[in-house]
Parts: sequence; C-alpha cells; structure tokens
Amino acid sequence: MKEIIVQKFGGTSVADTEKIKNVARAIIREKNLGHDVVVVVSAMGHTTDYLLKMAHEISARPSSREMDMLLSTGECVSIALLAMALQEQGCPAISMNAIQVGIFTEKVYNNARIINIRTDRIIENLEKGNVVVVAGFQGVTEDMEITTLGRGGSDTSAVALAGALNATRCDIYTDVEGVYTTDPRIVPHASRLGEISYEEMLELARVGANVLHPRAVETAKQHKVPLRVRSTFKLDNAGTLIVGVDNMELHRPVTGVASDLSQLRIVVCDVKDNPGTAAILFNGLAIANISVDMIIQSYARKDLNTNDIAFTIDKKDLEQTLNILEKLKAQLAFSNVHVDDKIAKISIVGAGMIDRPGIAAKMFKTLADLDINIKMISTSEIKISCIVAEDKAKEAVESLHKVFDLECDDIAEVKGDLPNI
Ligand code: ADP
Ligand code: ASP
Ligand code: MG
Repeated sequence: MKEIIVQKFGGTSVADTEKIKNVARAIIREKNLGHDVVVVVSAMGHTTDYLLKMAHEISARPSSREMDMLLSTGECVSIALLAMALQEQGCPAISMNAIQVGIFTEKVYNNARIINIRTDRIIENLEKGNVVVVAGFQGVTEDMEITTLGRGGSDTSAVALAGALNATRCDIYTDVEGVYTTDPRIVPHASRLGEISYEEMLELARVGANVLHPRAVETAKQHKVPLRVRSTFKLDNAGTLIVGVDNMELHRPVTGVASDLSQLRIVVCDVKDNPGTAAILFNGLAIANISVDMIIQSYARKDLNTNDIAFTIDKKDLEQTLNILEKLKAQLAFSNVHVDDKIAKISIVGAGMIDRPGIAAKMFKTLADLDINIKMISTSEIKISCIVAEDKAKEAVESLHKVFDLECDDIAEVKGDLPNI
C-alpha cells in the first residue's frame, strides 16, 4: 500500500470553476509524487453563508435538522465538480459524501462531533487508482440523520480522515500561506510561523484564529496526525507545520494574537450568594447545549447576601439563554439581566509565557496606554484573554502584536474577500 496524503481545500480555493481546475492540478501533482490521495473539500466560496441567509429569510428560527440538510448541500456541489475536473485532466476520481464514506457523528445538529469513520470504501476506491474526493463538514448519525460539524468543520473532517486512514500527513490548503502571528487581514505585517505546537495552535484556534477549526487541532494532537497549513495559490511554499511541543524551541513569550467578535456578555445582577446558585444557573445552560466561555463572580455584598455573575456566550445563543434565565428567575431571585453585545475578546497565546512573569502586566499596560478598558480577564497556562469594547478590537490587536515583537517587514498575501452579507 502506498502512503496516503489527505489534502483539504477551503471555500476560497474552490470559489469558481477555474479555481476548481487549479485545485485538480494541485491534487494530480501530489498523486504524481507516488501517493494515494484523499481530498476533503469545502463548499464553494461563500456558499454556506448564502444558504444560511436564505434559511433566515424563510424563518427566524429554522429547525436545526433542516438547517443541516440545507448546509450539507454546499459540499455536495464542490465534490462532484472537483471529481469532474480531475477526470477531465485524466485522473481517475470519485466523489463521496459522508453517508457513502461512513463519517458517523453524535446526534447533535449544527455542531456534531465525529465518533467513528469507516475506511473500507475509501480504501477500496484508492486501490482502484482513484483520487477519493470527500465532502467536508458533514456527517451522518447511526439512524441516518445528516449532521454538520460547525462552521469551519471541513478541517476536522480532513484531520479525522487522516487519523482513521493512518495518513502520512494532512495538508490544509487555504487562502493564506500558513499560520501567522495574527490574522494577516488585520495586520498585514504579521509573520508566518514555520512551525507551531499543537497546544498553542489549539489555544489560538479556540480564541478566534479561524485558520484552523479547533476540533481539527484537537483531533490531530490526539491521533498524532502531522498537520500542515499551506497556500493553494503558492504550492511550493512550505506553509506552517503543527508539531509536538518537545520539538520546539521557545524563543519568545508570545506566539500569536487573536480576536473574537462572536461572543456577548451577560451579567445576572444580585443573585443569592448561596451554595448551588452557580450550579443552577450553568446547569440550565448546559442542558440546552449552550457553551459558556468566561465566567466572573463578583465579591459578595455581605449586607445584602447577593453578588453578580457575568459570563460570555456565543451571540447566536442569546435568545435561548434569556429564555432559560427567565425560567430560573424564581429560583435565582436575581434583580435584572444586563446584555453587552458590543464586545471583543482579545487574546495572546504562547507556550513561552509559562516561566516568564510579567506577560499579563505587559498586556494590560498596552491596553491601558490605548485607554482601552478591560471588562473581563481569563487566563490559562499559555493564554491570556481580555474582553474589551468591540470598536477597540483592531487597535488592541495591532498594538499587542507590535509590543510582543511579532511583526516582520514583508506583507502577507491573502486571497479572497470577507463575506459581505
Ligand atoms: P478556508 O476557507 O480555506 O477554510 P478560512 O477563512 O476558514 O479558510 O481560514 C483562513 C483565514 O483565516 C485567513 O484568510 C485569515 O484571514 C484567517 N486567520 C485568522 N487568524 C489567522 C492566523 N493567525 N493565521 C492565518 N490566518 C488567520
Ligand atoms: N462550508 C463550511 C463553512 O463555511 C465548512 C468549512 O468551510 O469548513 O463553515
Ligand atoms: Mg476554514
């Protein structure tokens, strides 16, 4: 059996038919190196955004099952077109959706986790000499329901397939030349990282560096899949390798800066300062599958026996969260709920900050010098995040990137545009 390489191409890489033909050439190039090639592909361009927009034109709260039926169609279009482009260029190819492959997920619409992947049908097709083009982002439950893996989830499809097939490498082809010290669309002088550890990449992905889906990094780390991010448009460039931390020298305290505008902050005011209050509140949210990120409980006001609990959630979960709070009002006896939806989470990440004191202070001082107020703070061993006002996000990222010495002289090349719908 030959070595298997998994190649994943994102939306910008297959945005139109010319780009699809270009991707076919990149695949044939890999095959000609003597590898078996499995390709994972996303929906074309902004197709997924467009499908979402149509759903919301029909319903304010579309059923999550039907949403997955709809969103999964985007990837079905691109796999068929890419297989045709490969065949047209003389390369035997077959497209397969998640049902045909057997990409089994848990039954959670819109954000399912992959549980198991069948490899027999892919291997059978590779043995026949085919390039196998698999639809990213979609899965199927045991009872044949279609699910999707969350926005950006094709990365996870690719890494999970690479793990299941014991592939030599998983290459994520995208519209930038690798992982940068921050989003090169925000800071053009961001530096490309030659390599980054799984741990740092996971933190960066979780705090908003959407170049990789967090679960893809998690899966790569778990199954030790060698992972590389590289450009579809400059095939000879090395890109960025995601590697184990032991292989790396930690030259600097901070490896990357990221921003995330997808969250909002809720403050539940004057809840009872009793054992069990937080448990009731967060259990209510957990049952509804609502993820909470940062949590801060204020110092108790002894005379009143109350305090405030503030937390952040994804903007899309606001309505459901408010409904749950309303139901818990009698039990928690809070006075009111305050919603702040104009926030940004700004984070610095670096394994090198572990033994270096003063990194948090330097971050806070940088924000203070810009007169930016910090609304919440959270830390992990290799990450510090601050919630600030949304309109301060860009200058915060730019300054932190400069202060932690992450700039380079070159200007990063980025393809594609941002969705404007
Ligand atoms: P694809 O469609 O190929 O999956 P994505 O849009 O999901 O592409 O991810 C690539 C984008 O990620 C880049 O265009 C860039 O704007 C953004 N990005 C955010 N943070 C980073 C980072 N640290 N390094 C590189 N790209 C980043
Ligand atoms: N098409 C999906 C999205 O736009 C999945 C992906 O591109 O990874 O989120
Ligand atoms: Mg992506």
